[in-house]
Amino acid sequence: MTVTEDIAAELHPRAGAAKTVVDGVDVSAPAASFITQGAVPHIIAGEQRASTSGDERAVLNPSTGNQLGAVANGSADDVDAAVTSAREAFEDGRWSRLAPREKEARLHRLATLVEDHVQTIGDLDALDAGILRKYADYIAQYSANALRYYAGWPTKLVGQLPPVGPDFVVQERTEPIGVMGVIKPWNGPAAIFAQVAPALAAGNSVVLKPAEHTPLSATYLALLALEAGIPPGVFNVVHGDGVVGSALVAHPGVNRLSFTGSVETGRALAAAAAQSLKKVNLELGGKSPVLVFPDADLAEAAAAATRSVWNNSGQVCTAGTRTLVHRDIYEDFVEAAVALSKDLVVGNAFDDASDLGPLISSAQLAKVRSYVGLGKREGASLRFEGVAGESGGNYQAPVIFADVRNDMTIAREEIFGPVMSIIPFEDESQAYALANESEFGLAAGVFTKDIARANRAADALDVGTVWVNCYQVTDAAVSYGGAKASGYGRSLGGPALEEYTRRKSVWSRNY
Ligand code: ADP
Repeated sequence: MTVTEDIAAELHPRAGAAKTVVDGVDVSAPAASFITQGAVPHIIAGEQRASTSGDERAVLNPSTGNQLGAVANGSADDVDAAVTSAREAFEDGRWSRLAPREKEARLHRLATLVEDHVQTIGDLDALDAGILRKYADYIAQYSANALRYYAGWPTKLVGQLPPVGPDFVVQERTEPIGVMGVIKPWNGPAAIFAQVAPALAAGNSVVLKPAEHTPLSATYLALLALEAGIPPGVFNVVHGDGVVGSALVAHPGVNRLSFTGSVETGRALAAAAAQSLKKVNLELGGKSPVLVFPDADLAEAAAAATRSVWNNSGQVCTAGTRTLVHRDIYEDFVEAAVALSKDLVVGNAFDDASDLGPLISSAQLAKVRSYVGLGKREGASLRFEGVAGESGGNYQAPVIFADVRNDMTIAREEIFGPVMSIIPFEDESQAYALANESEFGLAAGVFTKDIARANRAADALDVGTVWVNCYQVTDAAVSYGGAKASGYGRSLGGPALEEYTRRKSVWSRNY
């Protein structure tokens, strides 16, 4: 059997396949066998490989604290093997010089495969990331949408012929860059194709390092890529922690980096990348304001604002963690937010009744709890604290603080947990000043029925995305990225391709 047939036999969707119990919950048979068949491997040069050191790491279930299985724990040697295979693949042109329409066909095939396997991928993310099972398919589908969108691009990466007069013909070419290093966090593990799809569409090879807590879906997706005909060596996955991440950043065979994660790590990474002059795209955190004006539909605004903080238990970069509400409707808004939150159920990601799942780790839980304590000590008014889920998991109940001042720690630092801070404002200019008075500049929401005010807000807000009368809407066709400490570079949409291609100007003299 070829590698590809092997993988197809192993992973082909089994419609109506039996469910199997893993750690007390029903998951699809392919997901169960994937994590119980031994340590989840790296994917290097198209092969499923253990670490050269033989090292493995436990994969935990944040809903229960139990061990689900194991994953290969990489080192600089594994990074080197992956980069070498990516470099060879890039140089011999098996993907980089493949006809654009053939690249498109294979990326479309991969998008279809991801769609066919959404259920299994959703199971894997719900297991190791604790993402609500009923929500996890959305992330897998988001990744498929990114693939579908970028599958149309290889035939459209045209260059230009700038006019310079009769003596020369100048081609300005759009070329792939080489080997891309992609480092991802744990809060949406299957979303890897937001970065990997444009990198592949542009003809690059990729080495991906998923977060150490959430390795499952990355290896699964890389196997699907092989099945779709992305040649061996073009899309590699190396598992491990920050040590493996830094080895990837430092490796001389990597041309460019894309990092999604915390500001602190992003800063260190950009400094390290500067040593070898690698350009980095940084998608970092946020402290995104949601502005609610007196003319807004209060029920709609309260529903969107609370959802934006409870969604994925607050572990989303664009979580609207600073809710800025006009004084005239302040108390009504706080009451509405509490009423919408008081019956929320915090529990196992696989329980249909759960509205919030666990946080990723006990360390993250301790961090969020310490922020809740800090909010109380700094004088914010605790208006609601829900009931945490059953014991064993990393459960944090939703918390609503009112009368928060923008200079309090809970309004300044990214908490990455279900903690909502409601801040009053008196007028429009104060609202914009408060919104912008932040280290971050990822996104903002504006709730108003006044179109002129919505446009003024869009102008005034120093952020990468503004949502008007909606929040956290995304589409692969629309670019996304941050201002200030939320990072630089854009992902998704046409603009992201500039991060994954380079220009070359070719001057030819006309004799
Ligand atoms: P989080 O708080 O979301 O875990 P991190 O920014 O620490 O955020 O992690 C995001 C990703 O960056 C993970 O894949 C992690 O392993 C990786 N990482 C952590 N430290 C480093 C580092 N020094 N260099 C490169 N990658 C790193």
